[in-house]
Amino acid sequence: MLENNISEYLSKSGHKSLNVRAMLFDMDGVLFDSMPFHARSWHQAAGEFGLEISEAQAYMNEGRTGAGTINELAMKQWGREATEKEVEDIYKRKAEIFVACGNAEPMRGAAQLLDGIRKSGLKIVLVTGSGQRSLLDKLNHSYPGIFAPENMVTAFDVKYGKPNPEPYLMGLKKAGVKANEAVVVENAPLGVRAGVAAGIFTIAVNTGPLPDEALGKEGANVIFPSMQYFAEHWDEVSADFNKFSLQ
Ligand code: CA
Repeated sequence: MLENNISEYLSKSGHKSLNVRAMLFDMDGVLFDSMPFHARSWHQAAGEFGLEISEAQAYMNEGRTGAGTINELAMKQWGREATEKEVEDIYKRKAEIFVACGNAEPMRGAAQLLDGIRKSGLKIVLVTGSGQRSLLDKLNHSYPGIFAPENMVTAFDVKYGKPNPEPYLMGLKKAGVKANEAVVVENAPLGVRAGVAAGIFTIAVNTGPLPDEALGKEGANVIFPSMQYFAEHWDEVSADFNKFSLQ
């Protein structure tokens, strides 16, 4: 099902093969159905500090670190970067509202997909712009035994964050693999841009309200309609990866 997509990736990237050994997973909107809460809490928190961000814009900004999003808004609306204190205050308030939204549910299909990937013997690495302190607990609760601290890139590890390729390049390093030995799983336009810029085959899963076009124009190598769909087709996807690997 992915033969054409992989061929196109190889000709664009100049790699001769795709030897998938690791899967790099974004978190919000991929592993957890948390984006509606994030969008709402960004809209409310920024508004309290005089910055406007609609919920739709929050989806377009998804993937940036908190500081990245706040500075993006401040530059456009205040004509300057936010101070460190402003970043801290706004992000703290955003986190409070997010927590008050309650626990986001694991994304339907994600556990099944992770299980399939683990059985295929591939490494699983988390690459998120999130800086929530409770992140590992949350992951272990919903996906026991899949994620370990040494296989995670979070907001605390990066300087630039998505859409810069930096977080995914760090993910490759943590997995100990090269760009043509990994696959990125993303739901957000800026996350897709980061994965593509890192030279990695990037699967977009459209779990939110944006049109597929928003992901396609960032260079997604393939777009799946849901994590459930991806999970149900993992065997075929995995077989296609094997066709293009140098055994
Ligand atoms: Ca995401």
